Amino acid sequence: MARGLQAAMRMHEENSGMGYTPFKIEKDKGTEQVRVLRVPDEWVSLWIHNVWEKVKPTRCAATEQQIDGETKEDRKTCPLCMMDIPRSVKTYIPVRVRGDDHSDRVQMIVYGRDHFAQVANVLDNLPQGKDITMFDIKIVRKGEKLNTTYFWNVVADPDLARPLNEAELELVIPDMEELIEVKEEHELLRRANGFAQAEAATPVEAGSSNGKKTPF
Ligand SMILES: [Zn+2]
Repeated sequence: MARGLQAAMRMHEENSGMGYTPFKIEKDKGTEQVRVLRVPDEWVSLWIHNVWEKVKPTRCAATEQQIDGETKEDRKTCPLCMMDIPRSVKTYIPVRVRGDDHSDRVQMIVYGRDHFAQVANVLDNLPQGKDITMFDIKIVRKGEKLNTTYFWNVVADPDLARPLNEAELELVIPDMEELIEVKEEHELLRRANGFAQAEAATPVEAGSSNGKKTPF
């Protein structure tokens, strides 16, 4: 890749407002080999409200303690929770991609529940006494768009099992808790109201009427 283009891409990433590089596998390539840079205990998971075209990804404002709560009352610090806007857990897994042109770049795998289940399965089946950071992982992409899935295969040659080296340990891991901050309350309210309006504007599907009459 031309050096100018690389620099431009880097600048666009930094300017994207995300502050980190999401890991992805190009469809044409289909596979990437990575080294996971932190053990699972150190992976960050966050509750994110996100409904396609109705509310953009927004970190849930409920505090840790409240997240464990069963009732909506427990989540009342979050205007989006109070409006029953769905939320789901995203887990952020920092990796170094083999062959990445940027020598010091950490990429971030972002997984929801389904993909994470597959990763959990891989973690369960690691050789005794080894952790996930000791192996390269080959990630294979299958399918496309909403049906895209990723399969993790441990490159489990015992010779390749090694702790992270010094250079890898020194890589700066994006602080996801800080990057995906909880927005100010007025912004949360704005998004919650925007969601309500988008919901109201959604046409009711034919045949779903239950016979209720509107008063006007
Ligand atoms: Zn919430």
